[in-house]
Amino acid sequence: MDRGELLYEGKAKRVYRTADPDLLIQHFKDDATAFNAQKRGTIVGKGVVNNRVSEVLFQLLERSGVPTHFVRRLSDRDMLVKACQIVQLEVVVRNVIAGSLATRLGRAEGEPVPEPILEHYLKDDALGDPLVNDSHVRFLNLATPDEVAAIDAMALRVNEIVRACLAERDIVLVDFKLEFGRHHGRLLLADEMGPDTCRLWDKSTGRKLDKDRFRGDLGSVEEAYEEVGRRICEVAA
Ligand code: 5GP
Repeated sequence: MDRGELLYEGKAKRVYRTADPDLLIQHFKDDATAFNAQKRGTIVGKGVVNNRVSEVLFQLLERSGVPTHFVRRLSDRDMLVKACQIVQLEVVVRNVIAGSLATRLGRAEGEPVPEPILEHYLKDDALGDPLVNDSHVRFLNLATPDEVAAIDAMALRVNEIVRACLAERDIVLVDFKLEFGRHHGRLLLADEMGPDTCRLWDKSTGRKLDKDRFRGDLGSVEEAYEEVGRRICEVAA
């Protein structure tokens, strides 16, 4: 399957048309941004890791009954996906306090939460992806109440499945961000799932193995991505 016209270029990915209007190619770059693109850099090999980790997790989710946009991996950096109309909501699920929730609620990073916390953010870079509630979602007509209920149920199911899979690889799934799309009227999990969009901590040491190493200038960023790739993809292979 060859790349056609470039449809969209984002911070970490490019999306190309293909000869089939139902299929797109998602290309994973090494470009990294943080703090709403105020910080920019490159994480060498990141695109390859995110493509492979997303492949493994999307396949696991499909096998477990969660529909995704994944069709197949085409190369190190290219993934064939179903064309979707992306719902303009970012869905975050949290198992441990970290990041913006630690700041917003004034709680210590690392505090476990008894049941997963689910949040919706408006997908809008110009506004810095603000937190929104159900009334905002209705007002902005981002998704119907039935779609929101289905999205939330899928996000919590993703959490159960991926959290258990990563626990077997000595990784704590602290939190993550998901995006969903509509494909012929059906909701699918879209975008990607990997160390760019998840907080992943080593279970025994608590070491951060994700994009927070880049965000916080913690060093050894490439090594952390490679470690996640090894733990998730080599076991799965
Ligand atoms: P927080 O709200 O604490 O900054 O992020 C919560 C989780 O969602 C983290 O795992 C973070 O990586 C992910 N996340 C939220 N928004 C974005 C985003 O715009 N880009 C990426 N790569 N991850 C995000």
